[in-house]
Amino acid sequence: MDDNNEEHEFVGDMDMDDDEADVANNNTTTPISAVKKSNNDTASVVRHAPSTTEGRGGPKSSSESVVFSPELLSMYYSRLFPYDLLYSWLAYDPSSIHPTTGGKAFVTPSKQSVPSSSGGGGGALTTTTTFPRREFSMTIEPTPGQEVYIRYQSFATRDDLATAVMKRRPTKLDIGAVFNYPPKDNKSLPTGKLKTIERELVFDIDLTDYDVVRNCGCDGAKICPKCWTYMGMAMEVMDSGLRSDFGFKHVAWFYSGRRGVHCWVCDDTARKMSNEARSAVASYFEMNLGSEKNKMSSLSTPLHPALARAYDILEPHFVNRVLPESGHALLATHASIVKVLLTLPDAAKPVMITLEKKWRKNPGDTTPKEKWRELKSELSAFVSGRGGAAKAPKTLSAIERVRIEMWPIETVFKHTYPRLDINVSKMQNHLLKSPFCVHPKTGRVCVPIETSNFSTFDPFSVPTLAQLMKELDQYKKLLFEGDEGKEKDEGIVHDWQKTSLRGPFEYFQKKFLVPLLNEERKVLKDERERRAALVGDF
Ligand SMILES: [Zn+2]
Repeated sequence: MDDNNEEHEFVGDMDMDDDEADVANNNTTTPISAVKKSNNDTASVVRHAPSTTEGRGGPKSSSESVVFSPELLSMYYSRLFPYDLLYSWLAYDPSSIHPTTGGKAFVTPSKQSVPSSSGGGGGALTTTTTFPRREFSMTIEPTPGQEVYIRYQSFATRDDLATAVMKRRPTKLDIGAVFNYPPKDNKSLPTGKLKTIERELVFDIDLTDYDVVRNCGCDGAKICPKCWTYMGMAMEVMDSGLRSDFGFKHVAWFYSGRRGVHCWVCDDTARKMSNEARSAVASYFEMNLGSEKNKMSSLSTPLHPALARAYDILEPHFVNRVLPESGHALLATHASIVKVLLTLPDAAKPVMITLEKKWRKNPGDTTPKEKWRELKSELSAFVSGRGGAAKAPKTLSAIERVRIEMWPIETVFKHTYPRLDINVSKMQNHLLKSPFCVHPKTGRVCVPIETSNFSTFDPFSVPTLAQLMKELDQYKKLLFEGDEGKEKDEGIVHDWQKTSLRGPFEYFQKKFLVPLLNEERKVLKDERERRAALVGDF
């Protein structure tokens, strides 16, 4: 589930605007388990359970204690939220972005998103945009501590979305599927008539699912730079699998604002996948990693090529970021070494005894990295009978041999293989937090993560609302001090370009959005030519 879908307590109903009353009346329920619906057609007022003592997403300095407030959020939505980027993306409308300026100049999109089935006229590319049929949901707080959850919102234009967001100032904005009708018309449609048509394939990875392998002292919503490295590893494996094994090209990653990451696969083929196909892809990436008590189910040999690739990606990270004291100290202390050795298959007991004895005597002689190499080479010598420190009995069965051979791979996977919340991926009709939102607990923006930066992305350097407002003030101050030409020179079009959001937002625009929309443009052009050829109209 999403980061801030904490347990809600249902306290009653409240009068809402007409368009806000669409929540509870749904015939296409989305599994947002934390939301309790009322029995009638009004929105539910829900209240946060008393907040726990969980961390606010890492180290917090006292000067930065107010990172989020309704006023800051209001400023963010009116000045910094990238409505153009979100619209251009979700409309999949190439005419909303200039083809040659690399997305610098947006075509004013507000008037052109009315659905149209007409073909291209006068050379202009028009499209049947899906934007007006896209579901949004909002979590709003009309009074502090009270949350109202509003589903089945949809907006005809970019401006309509912007107006609603600025008016309601949602503490959370979710994106759902594209339906056959605008979801806001839900109530006027006969039961069962509203159906999902398409949706990006999404993945949700959350550090709370890594508690069994977090030896940094964090659990639950707490994160630190040590355990965050698991997110970088997960993104690397998933991204390479989605691109290499499924051929997806338009894969976007975002920080969830607190303790995890979200992946949006936006290729046309991914968007049109059935629920069955989504489940199949999600299962492809799923692995039974076992728990403290239950052992991981054995891997088969030879290793599936996707798993062999994952191992090649993960093992170096495991060695550098999990084994040493500076990581999760897996082979850094005698106690942790014994714990690891005890997970060896029973048949490898002689190796365990030999190495435990050797490493106990001279613990500082070798580094955790060297110990891992020694352990692997001892195991391999043991099964092949090539005279390692420990001798294998002649009775070693083929099954035992394979188990010992696979143990290093299992151990690496157990700690570092992506742990997905696969329910998020299985259904078209599952909402996921919108990129560019702000997490109310941390005040941090859900920024795009560069694919070349998976292992260096630092959630603690993601700007908070408070920091962004400071940056806007500083920019204004600099302009006052006589640098009037600055905006023009730097091609400043949006306020977010005056802040540290510029890097991640422009990355999204240039490296994700422009290639995506250029491909949409090509598809539309090919389709138009194909139709023209059919009627002989060249
Ligand atoms: Zn940690």
